[in-house]
Amino acid sequence: MKTIIEPFKIKSVEPIYFNTKEERAEILENASHNPFLIRSADVLIDLLTDSGTSAMSSEQWAGIMKGDESYAGSPSFFHFEKTVKEITGMPIVMPTHQGRAAEKILFNILGGKGKYFVSNTLFDTTRANIEFSGAEGVDLLCEEGKRTTIPSPFKGNMDTVALKQFILEKGASNIPLCLITVTNNSGGGQPVSMQNIREVKKICVENNIPLFIDACRFAENCYFIKMREKEFANTTVENIAKELFSYADGCTMSAKKDAFANIGGFLAMHNEALAQQCRNLLIITEGFPTYGGLAGRDLEAIAIGLKEVMDEHYLQYRIRSIEYLTNKLIAAGVPVIQPAGGHAVYIDAKEFLDHIPVEQYPGQALVCALYLEGGIRSVEIGSLMFGKYDSNGKLIPAQMELVRLAIPRRVYTQSHIDYVAEVIIEVFENRKKINGLLITEEAKMLRHFTAKLAPINN
Ligand SMILES: *Cc1c(COP(=O)(O)O)cnc(C)c1O
Repeated sequence: MKTIIEPFKIKSVEPIYFNTKEERAEILENASHNPFLIRSADVLIDLLTDSGTSAMSSEQWAGIMKGDESYAGSPSFFHFEKTVKEITGMPIVMPTHQGRAAEKILFNILGGKGKYFVSNTLFDTTRANIEFSGAEGVDLLCEEGKRTTIPSPFKGNMDTVALKQFILEKGASNIPLCLITVTNNSGGGQPVSMQNIREVKKICVENNIPLFIDACRFAENCYFIKMREKEFANTTVENIAKELFSYADGCTMSAKKDAFANIGGFLAMHNEALAQQCRNLLIITEGFPTYGGLAGRDLEAIAIGLKEVMDEHYLQYRIRSIEYLTNKLIAAGVPVIQPAGGHAVYIDAKEFLDHIPVEQYPGQALVCALYLEGGIRSVEIGSLMFGKYDSNGKLIPAQMELVRLAIPRRVYTQSHIDYVAEVIIEVFENRKKINGLLITEEAKMLRHFTAKLAPINN
């Protein structure tokens, strides 16, 4: 088989600014060992997130020029609405400025004290919105999903036995919604099978619990279904997506992921009564229902991006690039989540830095080391992001200590990825020299964005 090439030509480029290791040491110090606080111009390869960082196509840029900025009833809205309806089959579509705005509206209405939202794994903003409403978020991930280094085709699946048990325990009436995240971002970007969605749907129907999809990476998930679920080997990604959404009562979406847009999101659903309540909140928080916090040009870019993302040459290149980096790391003995996920490579920092206890945030220590060594920016998905304190102020660690290297869509080429692999392997070979960190300042919610840390010098 020949090399899978980037399925695009490059028309416009941005420079990368180079700096030295000494300069990066100072930058890291000034950013209090939290790369969220580093200026992007000081980053060589930015793998902080795949969110809003895509390269838009010439078609999308043309759409930006065509965007109609009417306050109400813009043709750009109708283009957007028609596209989302076509893919999801959901008749009610509300644009929002990001995915979390859709979440905020949904959980504000359905949430509250004594309520439980069940999921395969909730993303951090999703969990925060649920908890902010007073409700609890419950992750019921399948057992394979929790074993980071044992390959399995659908590690994003929900544990259906645990779901049934949880419903029995808490009562269906206290569970306003089941939310399946495709692919499972916080759980390694691992896909969910159609079979699993069908089973979850059946349980939801039996218990009268609506099923929603967190659809941020629906196309990547559908491509995995095509590759790994025999039944779908000859089905187009578009038709797989249609079937996937057909089991859902609604969805939330961040267009900053699988729509190649730099901003945007939406909330879509079937239930008109719920939609009416959502619309009321949408108007006071986002804007009139035909723009919902977005410019007409953004709605155009999203509508075009949603179609482009289902192109199978693109998806083949996309999924292959992640696998390519993952395989290089595996070959060098670096502990990573296997198999490769859809949008990111996840390093198991607990194993990578097994000399650093979880109370000293090994994930964050690794994030800092990668920046220092090669100017690569990544993000910790572990106890800095998800850790809690018990009543004695002792850390309750997260299930896993991961470092995520999220690959922006259509942005970096194979040589960028080769460089990333070289840096990680070099850090791995010198891992025993890396020290743990302690938190010196933190916020109550989503603390990883702004926390300040300091190295612990042994
Ligand atoms: C990014 C993301 C969100 C939130 O979307 P924003 O546009 O960043 O607000 C929700 N769920 C998942 C799975 C995500 O990846």
